[in-house]
Amino acid sequence: MSDTDPTLEWHKTVCILCSNNCGVEVRLDERQITRVRGNKAHVASKGYTCEKALRLNHYQNAATRITAPMKRLDDGSYIELDWDTAIAEVGEALLGVNATHGPGKIMYYGGGGQGNHLVGTYGAALRSALGITRKSNALAQEKTGEAWVEGRMYGTHTHGEFHEAEVSVFLGKNPWHSHGFDETRRVLKEIAADDDRSMVVIDVRRTETADLADYFLQVAPGGDAFLMAAILGALVEEDLTATEWLAENAVGTEAALAAFAEVPVADYAERAGITEDEVRGVARRLARAKSVSIYEDLGIEMAPHSTLISYLQRALSTLLGSYGVEGGMTAHTSLVPVFNYRASGNEPVDPVTGSAIISGLVPCNDIAEGILSGHPERSRALFIESANPVHSLADSASFRKAMREVDVSVVIDVVMTETAAEADYVLPAASQYEKAEMTFFSAGFPTNYSTMRAPILDPLEGTLSEAEIHSRLAKAMGLVTDADLEPLRVAAAESYDAFAAAYMAAAADKPMLGALGAVVLYETIGRTLPDGMAMAAPMWFSSQQLAMRYPEQVRAAGYDGEDAALGNALFDALIANRDGVPITRHEHGDSFNLLRTPDQKINLDIPEMFAELASLTTSDVRLTTDDFPFVLSAGERRGFTANTIMRDPSWRKKDAEGALRLSEADAASLGVESGDRVRITTAAGSAVAVAEVNNTMQDGHVSLPNGMGLGYSPAGGEPEITGVAPNELTSLDWKDPIAGTPWHKHVPAKLEPVG
Ligand code: SF4
Repeated sequence: MSDTDPTLEWHKTVCILCSNNCGVEVRLDERQITRVRGNKAHVASKGYTCEKALRLNHYQNAATRITAPMKRLDDGSYIELDWDTAIAEVGEALLGVNATHGPGKIMYYGGGGQGNHLVGTYGAALRSALGITRKSNALAQEKTGEAWVEGRMYGTHTHGEFHEAEVSVFLGKNPWHSHGFDETRRVLKEIAADDDRSMVVIDVRRTETADLADYFLQVAPGGDAFLMAAILGALVEEDLTATEWLAENAVGTEAALAAFAEVPVADYAERAGITEDEVRGVARRLARAKSVSIYEDLGIEMAPHSTLISYLQRALSTLLGSYGVEGGMTAHTSLVPVFNYRASGNEPVDPVTGSAIISGLVPCNDIAEGILSGHPERSRALFIESANPVHSLADSASFRKAMREVDVSVVIDVVMTETAAEADYVLPAASQYEKAEMTFFSAGFPTNYSTMRAPILDPLEGTLSEAEIHSRLAKAMGLVTDADLEPLRVAAAESYDAFAAAYMAAAADKPMLGALGAVVLYETIGRTLPDGMAMAAPMWFSSQQLAMRYPEQVRAAGYDGEDAALGNALFDALIANRDGVPITRHEHGDSFNLLRTPDQKINLDIPEMFAELASLTTSDVRLTTDDFPFVLSAGERRGFTANTIMRDPSWRKKDAEGALRLSEADAASLGVESGDRVRITTAAGSAVAVAEVNNTMQDGHVSLPNGMGLGYSPAGGEPEITGVAPNELTSLDWKDPIAGTPWHKHVPAKLEPVG
């Protein structure tokens, strides 16, 4: 091999298997990713990766990539279409739904996963151009309870500084596997090795993170709300709150203190399966700390009392005065906010199901229910991109039925997913490594970073980027023409300023050009960008917005200029840099300026939460029955799970089938050993899994991993399914009463040995 051998070249990109998006460098052999290593120059991850990144080729070169648009026939089979025909038919179908049923009857689902959020900007253009008001994505089954609470308390999103925190609390979260902050495992080990810092883990299972914890509270299934209430009760009872800080920085403190003073600490600790001494010990350790950062995740967000727990943990960090201090909780900037908090406290209601629409997202469990309801206002079409709701949402059978019920369903994806296999039209997208992409998840403080990726490969033949698909769709529907775009292209070629002036004038003349924002930017500014970067064009607008909102902090991050010039400088840096760039740099004193509450104080007074807290007195903890005595966590994150993005089962080096984990005592009482087959039955369905006797499990608690039960057919033909798809076992009505988030991590179940 010579030094000029292209297989020796390292290409900078990121890992897309979790929200951390660690910077990596990869080597290619033709279209194969043959080697992966951490990118030491990356601004956030600094060379760190976990083992998953090494296996990215299983995503990029999945044997089931789609390479032509597909149309479903009445018998359920598919034929290939050429792109022009497919785009024309999809455009006509969408306009037909609007014409027949009136605007607002198309449901948009998805718009990006862990590392491809530029897709969402093009989805937003389609929605705004066609008057699509119904949208949803996976956040509406995980994070809308948290968003509901954060909207009321802060008016924005907050995050902890785990690199610096004196005490880190992980609540229903196993960052060893689910990550969630840069260099996760290195930081966890650093905390564990430091006598002056502490880690508190609250989890039903003894996780890998729990093994590193100073305080591991192995809470009974369903007991998290009781435990959090008990910690708060102890804090108030022992007068351990930050009284002076609260007087200056919070409102509603008296109401919150009164509610927590009512908590029967000993009783709730017992119901949570934790001793009162442990509860009080943790409360005192938290109160002694200069800084506390808390991270909740799906273990509580998809379990009973999820919205209440989201409130209780934030009330805890607030009562400790741990907001806006180094190592504490803080709000942060976003290039593009993932949630819209403006409506918090005044959410619209879905006209079909009556559920609250939090952050503009229809609750996931409502989508199929609404479509199948027969209600005159129900959605009549589904437009799904970069998402697999048939597999990912509760009660897969209902979602499949809903897809057959609507007038038309369109899926844009890289492979033939479980959802694509039900769609009327499937449009094949270029992979995340074949176009410019990025994530909007970055939540760094005091410095926040963003990484724009350049393609490392050309789009697979027959596929198009979502930017190109949306652009062609908009043109096919007659929403925009090349004649509209040409003067804007000329202006963009001249300068950003010339483009801005021309676009404002054109949109005033033809508002559709404003509605189609991302598509217009792709077609104009996109053409001025380096090869392969056109899809990144919408970030010019986002850079302008960020610079307008935080000019000092954008300048502090290293950019020069005033007004539009500052946004242009940030955008140019994003486009040019493969190691990521700082986008804003704050001081800790700025944390309160980032709050979006009316008085820029933290609001503790949420009456709905006090009512649910009071109701715990008479609440059952386990919510199991004689028929379904076990609690099943349906969708645990493990070393080899990555939602549904990795479809080739050979990517897993361990736990090939995704075993059902259960305790030794439960295995003994069922008469099963590791490797035996066990039937799991819930109110929704039944499945057979391989058993794994595992001493990290509590008696009565069993778990299945997420991302299993995917079909894969490298040789074509009927796909082979590996493991159990968790949502064959979940129900639409098993969900949080406020946010509608499903309780996948707490599903009553029955187990039987299979001979
Ligand atoms: S931490 Fe996440 S982004 Fe980083 S290498 Fe692991 S899976 Fe990939």
